[in-house]
Amino acid sequence: MHFLRRVESAGQGSYNRIAMPSASFHFHPSFAPFLTLAHRNGPFEVSFTGRPALKHLIEALGVPHTEVGAVRSAGQPVGLGYHLAGGEQIDVLPCEPAAPGGGEAPRFVLDNHLGKLASLLRILGLDALYRNDYQDDELARIAEQEGRVLLTRDRRLLMRKAIRQGHWMRSTDPQAQLLEVMQRYALAGWLRPFRRCPRCNAPLRAVEKAQVLERLEPLTKAYFDEFHICPGCGQIYWKGSHYERIRARFAGLMEEEEE
Ligand SMILES: [Zn+2]
Repeated sequence: MHFLRRVESAGQGSYNRIAMPSASFHFHPSFAPFLTLAHRNGPFEVSFTGRPALKHLIEALGVPHTEVGAVRSAGQPVGLGYHLAGGEQIDVLPCEPAAPGGGEAPRFVLDNHLGKLASLLRILGLDALYRNDYQDDELARIAEQEGRVLLTRDRRLLMRKAIRQGHWMRSTDPQAQLLEVMQRYALAGWLRPFRRCPRCNAPLRAVEKAQVLERLEPLTKAYFDEFHICPGCGQIYWKGSHYERIRARFAGLMEEEEE
């Protein structure tokens, strides 16, 4: 595929060079992080050979298909599988904030760089698979087979066809990343704080104090009566100072969820 700076118009006088077909592309301003400077402001022409699919061309310009909410050709909706013929006016629009669908809590798989974000999602009760040694193929397979949303800083990974739902993290700060994911997937209604192990992602279960008594520090033993245990890693949880700190930190997010 070739990208020309200037497009020659076909059939110009007797000039017998055959022009390549081209289409005009206009990306919504929110795609700026993916695009070269020249492509960020207003429509630009893209030339091509053959009849490339929109997915192919949009990704060649830097935007993973998972980031695309809708595409219009001269105002009419078209799919990413649409094959360009030339002369189209293409508008590319971002995803609207929405839960991934199915009426169930969204589930995630995160790449190796997002360990802190994984813990934050788990604290809020969301199913967030993460390991620091997942390889790209593994991440793609898990996302596809388990219907999980892939969260990553690797835009190439999101360009794989097998990845149906994914999000390229704009921020590198875990707290900002959390807000980013919450907004993109409309998570406010899905938060169930303190019901999942932040260390290993397993749902916690209540446990009798007597059953964990031996493992408690004297002060914990004296002041707390309600305990939860992680069936995955054995960690014991109670509503101590750590709990209060986390509650304060997420107060804004959890407001609607308090019983
Ligand atoms: Zn655990």
